[in-house]
Amino acid sequence: MHDDNASAGSLFMVVAPSGAGKSTLVNALLAQEPALKLSVSYTTRAPRPGEQDGREYYFTTADDFMRRRDAGEFLESAEVHGNYYGTSRVMIASQIKSGSDVLLEIDWQGAHQVKKQFSHAVGIFILPPSIDALEERLKKRGQDEPHVITRRLLAAGGEIAHAGDFEYVIINQDFARALSELTAIVQATRCRFPQQAARNASLFAQLGIHAALN
Ligand code: 5GP
Repeated sequence: MHDDNASAGSLFMVVAPSGAGKSTLVNALLAQEPALKLSVSYTTRAPRPGEQDGREYYFTTADDFMRRRDAGEFLESAEVHGNYYGTSRVMIASQIKSGSDVLLEIDWQGAHQVKKQFSHAVGIFILPPSIDALEERLKKRGQDEPHVITRRLLAAGGEIAHAGDFEYVIINQDFARALSELTAIVQATRCRFPQQAARNASLFAQLGIHAALN
């Protein structure tokens, strides 16, 4: 297992069914927490209107994705809604090592794989306030074909069934409240002993704090 205990940076995984409002929440969090870096994943899905290669995702072909996967380039990868998604191993490792906090927007399968390698990764699950609200949000988004929306709604039940695997659950009923809960989780995680000790090594040494880092 990778030893992440002595790293200054924290790793967050935000997971939700499509339509729970995850991306809007994460974007608002990133806007107020500039030290938090969003990991840009690789995907074989086609870009949606307005999406840019290298910003939302690195859009690629199935052949290229498989080549990267077989070469061990992904920290985790999964098939979600008929497309492949993967997180770059190199990018995460270097950001964590340099002390950046990194946020992954991934599915439950990916979160499972990451947790096996970074045991201190913090899993946050975003729930919609109701199944009707979920359907409404998916339709309103208007970016996907009706058959894609139907597939995502069906998949939502499967994703939600894994909420119990996560450390934290946020119910996205009131946006401001959900955002403040998400922010609180990030801030509390930064105050964990190992992260503080790694970030403030000279202060800890000066104060004579030599406790083990876990
Ligand atoms: P979308 O196509 O709507 O952007 O994302 C579909 C699903 O794929 C979401 O649940 C999203 O969190 C997940 N996803 C996005 N990037 C990754 C990734 O790198 N790895 C995994 N496992 N899932 C991802």
